[in-house]
Amino acid sequence: MDKFLRVEALATKGFMPADEGDALYLAACAACRELPKLPIVEIGTYCGRSTVWLGAAARKYQTKVFAIDHHFGSEENQNGWEWFDQSLLDSSTNQLNTLPSLLATLRRTMLSDVVIPIVGESKVISSQWSAKLAFCFLDGGHGEEPTRSDYLSWVPKIAVNGLLAIHDVFSDPKDGGQAPYKYIYMAALDSGEFIEISATGSLRILQRIKIAG
Ligand code: SAH
Ligand code: MG
Repeated sequence: MDKFLRVEALATKGFMPADEGDALYLAACAACRELPKLPIVEIGTYCGRSTVWLGAAARKYQTKVFAIDHHFGSEENQNGWEWFDQSLLDSSTNQLNTLPSLLATLRRTMLSDVVIPIVGESKVISSQWSAKLAFCFLDGGHGEEPTRSDYLSWVPKIAVNGLLAIHDVFSDPKDGGQAPYKYIYMAALDSGEFIEISATGSLRILQRIKIAG
């Protein structure tokens, strides 16, 4: 991929390891090649780290990334939790706010014409969204409720031959939380509508082979 963008992705705050980011990029390229003009949707953008890899793919295939996040952080990003970052606290509200960091990432990477941030609740945005997707990356809330909701909200919008990417998939509870594994990854495979294409670290790439019914 574009060397400048890869360096910038690695310099962005967030939770996407380099090898998984590279796999995300290659999968997004494959989906955009297969389904020209259909967009990429990302749920869970944070400061835009994974988004840079997706933006590189969208630039190459002349499509767009819609980067969805309410920017208040997930449970584990809050004060007192494992993944809290004091520097992302908005001092006027004492609440996490990752939107300024995302906008800075897009300026620095010159991806503002390719990556369109949508600020809001995943479920609310999905209820107004009718376009089919070439590529859907789910990395939002990692509890039972948000993973079940993201599965129901976004997975039906993936076009046939389009790809579903899921982050933080751990089949063994010793390695991490089970919700993305159970309520997205296994749910998609059990539906019979998806097959697994690749696994890199905790990233899983599935392809839609049919639409149920
Ligand atoms: N993909 C990012 C990490 C995302 S962290 C990276 O590569 O670094 C998870 C993000 O999901 C957080 O920023 C949080 O604000 C967002 N999120 C959690 N639940 C959400 C919901 N219901 N709607 C919108 N965004 C949500
Ligand atoms: Mg993640």
